[in-house]
Amino acid sequence: MILPVYVYGSPVLRKKAVAIDQNYDGINTFIADLWETMYNSDGVGLAAPQVGKSIRVFVIDSTAMVSDDPTIQTFKKAFINPKIIEKTGDESLFIEGCISIPNIREEVSRPPQIRIQYYDENWGFHDDYFDGVPARIIQHEYDHLEGILFVDKIPAIRRKLLNGRLLAITKGKVDVSYKIKAPR
Ligand code: ZN
Repeated sequence: MILPVYVYGSPVLRKKAVAIDQNYDGINTFIADLWETMYNSDGVGLAAPQVGKSIRVFVIDSTAMVSDDPTIQTFKKAFINPKIIEKTGDESLFIEGCISIPNIREEVSRPPQIRIQYYDENWGFHDDYFDGVPARIIQHEYDHLEGILFVDKIPAIRRKLLNGRLLAITKGKVDVSYKIKAPR
C-alpha cells in the first residue's frame, strides 16, 4: 500500500525514533509498504518517520541511481534497529535530495565509509561495512531515525536561501507526483 509521505515541518520528522522488537506487529507488511511508497516517489531510500511511524526502520534501493551513473552498484536492503558503529575517511560533498523535502537538492558533506549493525526483514543480524553511494544513502536514512534532515547539514547561507521554499513545503504548496501529508 502506498502511504502518504510526511513532509518538512512535520513533528514526526524531528523525533528520535524508537527501536522495535520481534513481537512488533506487521513489520513485513510495513516494510512492503515502505518499498512501494519509495518506488512510487522515485526515492532511493525511505525511513519509517517519513510515513509517520517513529520506529527505527528504513529501506534502501539504489537501482534508480544506476541509470544516471552506471558505476553505482545496485544495492537493496531493509534495515531494522540499525546502529552506526563508526564513520571513517575524509568527508566529501554529494548532492542529496529527500522525498520529505520535495524538489530541493543540495550538496551535503559526509564521510565515505561506515560500519553498521542492523537486523534485516527476517530478523537476521548483520555487522557490515559500506562505502560509496550505499554508505551515503544509509547515513541519510539513519539521520531520519535521529530526527535529522539533510538541510540541517548544509551551510547556513544556503539554508537561508531555501527558507521560502521550505515554508511553502510545510503548507503543502509544492508540486509533487506522490501523495504528501503537510503539517499545515
Ligand atoms: Zn530523506
